Amino acid sequence: MIAINDTHDAKLKSWVESANDDATDFPIQNLPFGVFRPAGAEEEPRVGVAIGDQILDVVACRQQGLLKGKVFTAGLACDVPALNALMALGPDLWTTLRETISGLLRADGPGMAETRPKVEKCLSRMKTAELLLPVEIGDYTDFYASVYHATNVGSMFRPDNPLLPNYKHIPVAYHGRASSVVVGGTPIRRPSGQMKADDADGPSFGPSKLLDYELEVGVFIGPANHHGESVPIQKAENHVFGMCLVNDWSARDIQKWEYQPLGPFLAKSFATTISPWVVTLEALAPFRAPEFARPKGDPRPLPHLDSPENRETGGIDLTLDVFLASEQMREKGIEPLRISRGSFTDMYWTIAQMVTHHTSNGCNLRPGDLLASGTVSGPDEGSRGCLLEHTWRGENPIQLPTGEERKFLQDGDEVIMRGFCERDGFARIGFGECRGTITSVAAPE
Ligand code: CA
Repeated sequence: MIAINDTHDAKLKSWVESANDDATDFPIQNLPFGVFRPAGAEEEPRVGVAIGDQILDVVACRQQGLLKGKVFTAGLACDVPALNALMALGPDLWTTLRETISGLLRADGPGMAETRPKVEKCLSRMKTAELLLPVEIGDYTDFYASVYHATNVGSMFRPDNPLLPNYKHIPVAYHGRASSVVVGGTPIRRPSGQMKADDADGPSFGPSKLLDYELEVGVFIGPANHHGESVPIQKAENHVFGMCLVNDWSARDIQKWEYQPLGPFLAKSFATTISPWVVTLEALAPFRAPEFARPKGDPRPLPHLDSPENRETGGIDLTLDVFLASEQMREKGIEPLRISRGSFTDMYWTIAQMVTHHTSNGCNLRPGDLLASGTVSGPDEGSRGCLLEHTWRGENPIQLPTGEERKFLQDGDEVIMRGFCERDGFARIGFGECRGTITSVAAPE
């Protein structure tokens, strides 16, 4: 696991004043990476680091001569408008780059009088910037790591047998679609598909009526493993660059008709939204937690999915909120309504176990591959991470402040996910937002 170091010191302040605001997601202890284009600019998109309400342009920092020695290499990897090359470099260079950027931004940084005017030239306002998909995602895998989600959903589809016998032995997953992963803010068009109502004689084709979100956390792979070689659990996190928020949009009516026997396909592949900022695993070092406390009687994972370190610090104490705003709410100026709060510590499987399981057959992961956790649901009703569970298939609709009801998503609904880590003695860090608004189905051509 990555050690806690000077860059995590809660006392660190930045000369970028907005980074010292208690409410910011991006204090100097966070420093997440993304890809942006300054507003209105005809320029190529570039790699940036979020600091308060500003973005630090990493390419401009190199051009200003602010990245020297080993860090120059890391700076060069940021010359392409995607994080894949940086992700491929591995933990040592990531750490050095983070240390350097932290030094450039801290209020008492070495040689600040000389460097600050140069760094100031590399800053632009986040509010007016365009945030782009940060990674060229080659492959996307979606896990199913919450035992609460698996049990709730299983009990709706198979009341007698909610949790299948493999669940507590392998981190179950399916291969998702990488081409339709979009950055937060991209409108999501309601999908059409084939479905069959329980009382219908046969299937029909049309717009999904049971459109849902799934609150998830994404993991971006760093250095690849060789094809044919597996990654032992002790080294799994060396292959993880960082994390983002994921909304795995799901059409429940399409899913129900198509999922057997090979699992989800078109019910999920129409769109997946990720948050624009990738929080590094190093920034998350102060917030590590033990693995899920398996109830007595649950099997221990097989030896290749188990290690003392994973038991003690395999989890991450990350709080996750979902907000909903209908079109009416926006028109009336009503704030988005928080409809759930979950915790990533409720996941049955850890990130290291997902990486090790994924490669255990020799499958190679590549820099920028996205592994999503599966819906983050906890034991309480308020911590259910999708509408299917939250409204229990629509039986308990959500009441909105306008008097509207929601069983599933309607056109114009915006889903906003937020995530943050807090721990005594450390600065609070956040993931920013993962936003998406449903638009009406495409008119036939
Ligand atoms: Ca999912």
